Amino acid sequence: MQPRDKQFPDAPLAATVRDLGPTCLGLLARITPNSVATKLYLLAVLILTAIVGMATASVHFSQLTSDAADRVHQQGFIGLVTATDLEVTLHRHRRIVESAPAEVDRATIALDRESLTGLAGRLATLAAGIEREEVRNAVDAMALSAVLPELFKLGERVLHYAENFAQNQALDTAAIYSTTAGVLQKRIDRYRTGRIEIARNEAARVSVEAHGFVRWITLCVLCVLLVLGPLSVSITRRIVSRLAKIQHVTLRLAADDTSVVVPSTLDPDEIGDIARAVDIFKCNAIALLDYRRQIEQTNLEFSVALEHMSQGLCMFDKGKRVVVSNRRYGELYGLAPDSIRPGTSLAEIIEMRLAKGVFPRGKLQDYARERLEDARTLSHQVDELSNDRTISIVRRSMPDGGWVTTHEDVTELRRAEARIKHLAHHDALTDLANRVQLRSRAAECVAALERQQKFALLCLDLDHFKDVNDTLGHPVGDELLKLVADRLRHCVRSTDLVARIGGDEFAILQIGIEGEDDVLRLARRLIEHISEPYLVGEHKCLIGVSIGIAMAPRHGGESEELARRGDLALYRAKEAGRGGYRVFDETMEQDRNAKLGIAADLRGAISQNELHLVYQPIVDLESRTIGGFEALMRWRHPGRGLIPPRDFIPIAEETGLINSLGIWALNEATREAASWRQPARIAVNLSPVQFKHRDIAQIVIDALTASGLAPHLLELEITESVLLHNTQATLAALHRLRAFGVRIALDDFGTGYSSLSYLQNFPFDAIKIDQSFVRNLATRSGSVAIIRLVAALANSFGMETVAEGVETASQLALIKSAGCTHAQGYFFSRPVPSGLIAQVHETCTELLDAAA
Ligand code: C2E
Ligand code: CA
Ligand code: CA
Repeated sequence: MQPRDKQFPDAPLAATVRDLGPTCLGLLARITPNSVATKLYLLAVLILTAIVGMATASVHFSQLTSDAADRVHQQGFIGLVTATDLEVTLHRHRRIVESAPAEVDRATIALDRESLTGLAGRLATLAAGIEREEVRNAVDAMALSAVLPELFKLGERVLHYAENFAQNQALDTAAIYSTTAGVLQKRIDRYRTGRIEIARNEAARVSVEAHGFVRWITLCVLCVLLVLGPLSVSITRRIVSRLAKIQHVTLRLAADDTSVVVPSTLDPDEIGDIARAVDIFKCNAIALLDYRRQIEQTNLEFSVALEHMSQGLCMFDKGKRVVVSNRRYGELYGLAPDSIRPGTSLAEIIEMRLAKGVFPRGKLQDYARERLEDARTLSHQVDELSNDRTISIVRRSMPDGGWVTTHEDVTELRRAEARIKHLAHHDALTDLANRVQLRSRAAECVAALERQQKFALLCLDLDHFKDVNDTLGHPVGDELLKLVADRLRHCVRSTDLVARIGGDEFAILQIGIEGEDDVLRLARRLIEHISEPYLVGEHKCLIGVSIGIAMAPRHGGESEELARRGDLALYRAKEAGRGGYRVFDETMEQDRNAKLGIAADLRGAISQNELHLVYQPIVDLESRTIGGFEALMRWRHPGRGLIPPRDFIPIAEETGLINSLGIWALNEATREAASWRQPARIAVNLSPVQFKHRDIAQIVIDALTASGLAPHLLELEITESVLLHNTQATLAALHRLRAFGVRIALDDFGTGYSSLSYLQNFPFDAIKIDQSFVRNLATRSGSVAIIRLVAALANSFGMETVAEGVETASQLALIKSAGCTHAQGYFFSRPVPSGLIAQVHETCTELLDAAA
């Protein structure tokens, strides 16, 4: 989540601090009428004013007091002292003068004169001082000096009279003197009184000032008490209460309670600013809390992810100590989950692992040392542990000197890889070598030819395996293949290689042979062992093996060439009847080449009009008439002459040409049969390949439609192998044809798997017993019994039984006695061109009559 306030887009706390500085400075700078600062300043100014007022009053009062004291001292006290001094001096002067008339001693008088002179000087000085004082203070002058000369003159005279013993005159003069002295005394008294008055006045003034001062002080104190007190208390209370609320909010915010509402945010003063700052702080706190919650959630998710990782993870710091690890890490090395904690050292972990015995196999000695040394350097390694687990370790170093390792148990992966590697060279079912391994070993053997090391390639193909597989199912087939593989392994030496190269195809590299005898012995041993019965579950299976042999260097010095030649020999072995072996020889290759030539020529055979059909009668033994004709294909090759079907039909089947040949035969045969004057059935052979590739039912219906032949006159001859493969689609096609009216005959019965169950599975119209049975009638006693059994069974299902290859009258008699309803063979007629059919009708009737 983003912080809400745009002012704090990132690192909100730092930004808050950064921005609070200017905010505070702003507070000081901004003194508005409503600001707290203004109020506080106002309060301070008021208090200062009160203090200044009181101080001024005090100074004023002290000045007044000091002035008054000065004046009392100057004008009162000094005046009084001077007056007293003057009075005392005057008094002494008077005593001398007034006592002089009675003095008779001239010496004393002389002394008195002297004293008087001194006293007169003093008096004059004092009087002059007073007069100067009076002048300075501009007060009424006592005119003391004005009396003094008279007084002194009178005093002189008194002394003069007394010296001269003129007592009367002295007394008289003394009386005048006393009067003058009295005047002076009065003036001194008045002066003193004046001085006292001044002192009294000053004292009164000071008293008045003191009262004023007290009033002023009282006023100021009252002012402070009545005005400033309540004002400051109210201001302080308002500020403090709001601050207290904000402080409370701040404390709750600090305790992560963001539900609080910040008060005073609308206040225009500094507290409002603080409140707004706190509000911003709150927004940031909310953002921070969200951020913290996110981090906690992320941490939680991280730990859950860490704990549920399939890989073990361990992070180390540069001191080789665990920073973080997950449970899987401990599990991988068999360590208890709580044994690896942050702070656990790598050395401890290694020690624990050694104690548990979980360390890379064969590395016990050096393990601890190596691991500690290259802890940081390795980037990837795979440890095969002593507990059979394989751990892939990836290390990544981190910028801070630490590293992180991830540990993955790749045991299963490794096993799977090994298995895949094994499968790449082995057959999954039998665990024998596969074609790839065979090829590379063959190449090795070819290389070893230089060292005179001969070897042989035996190509094996199981006989009748397909029948087992198709009738008993793939699971049984697979089991059988495994048993075959086991037997093959037992037949060869450990140096030889047995490979499975196809469904029921195997190959053996017999290495280090002396001569052909070694190989033939092995081939015989193989045939003998493989041909022994198998028990797969409750099924007893009988199969055989055909072997083609190519030897090196006799038959080639290249593995491809040898493989091809071994295959050719195998082909020949199969051709020659199963359960045998053939060693390659040059003629096989010539034959093969001839076959390839035939295949090439066959492509043009239809368009070149080289094909034609011949017809062999199928005789109805009961009605003793010709029941129908089997159409057999012939190829007149421009160079090779007439080529029998056994030489080109298999090639046509291999190459797929049988499809067009088959369509041609169907059209040709139905067209021919439709043209017969004496209506007869026409039997057409269908190859199993035709059922694989085409919508055979439609092709047949098209041929009937095109020819206009009645469907019941067409009989399709199919072999058991048609039913073995592609059963569902094949059965559907056959049923469709049968529903259309076409007859279906089972050809060559007794050559394949010869399961009588087919007779139950599909309602054939006829069964053609293979000519090999008829041929062996005379020699093998069992043959008659088999023919009888088949004929009886077929009869019970309402099917006809055709004995093929009847060449003699005795054979005819035997098959007739065995219950066959029809017969076909040279005894009646060889296959003939269409032009001879009428003739065949005649000869056959004759033969039947003769046989009867
Ligand atoms: P098949 O269907 O069993 O045909 C009967 C074969 O037995 C014919 O050989 C016939 O000439 C031969 N045969 C008949 N009577 C006697 C006898 O008394 N003694 C002896 N030894 N042989 C007798 P052919 O014509 O050489 O055909 C061989 C096989 O080629 C046929 O066997 C059939 O499987 C196949 N074939 C012939 N024509 C066609 C065809 O048009 N289409 C298909 N798909 N296969 C055909
Ligand atoms: Ca046939
Ligand atoms: Ca046949």
